[in-house]
Amino acid sequence: MEKIRIDDAKSYMGPADVKRPLTKELGTENVALNYYELAPGDSFAFGYHAHEDQEEVFYVQSGTVTFETADDPVAVGAGEAVRVAPGEFQRGVNEGDERVVALAVGAPRDAGETEVRRHCEDCGERTPNDIEMTEDRDALVTRCVDCGAVTGRFD
Ligand SMILES: [Zn+2]
Repeated sequence: MEKIRIDDAKSYMGPADVKRPLTKELGTENVALNYYELAPGDSFAFGYHAHEDQEEVFYVQSGTVTFETADDPVAVGAGEAVRVAPGEFQRGVNEGDERVVALAVGAPRDAGETEVRRHCEDCGERTPNDIEMTEDRDALVTRCVDCGAVTGRFD
């Protein structure tokens, strides 16, 4: 049995105030597990995205997350959970005033191809984006695949 303290896991740069990937720490073979804390305005994800091979379950422990989906937005409050199918586009954002604490479980562990879409000012529409580390390694940026413009910076 592997046991960890979530607070001991390193927090990663990104669109969430706190993102602690627990997959390696626990040595999971078949699922990916991430612990999140979202300040108001934060998101789980760099953009509206889909994982080709992986289904995801989000459990919200406190606060409320609003998921953009292909249909209407879905608000998920404390004590609720949602399942996202492989290939289904979504992005969860903390649109409330309260801090969000949530767990995300993905299976299989490796998500396969992940397509991220963000609004690009230069293209004037939502476009596919890549995520890359800055040269100084002090932030991650999202970059429009169509025109090369940086669409977001996360540190
Ligand atoms: Zn662009």
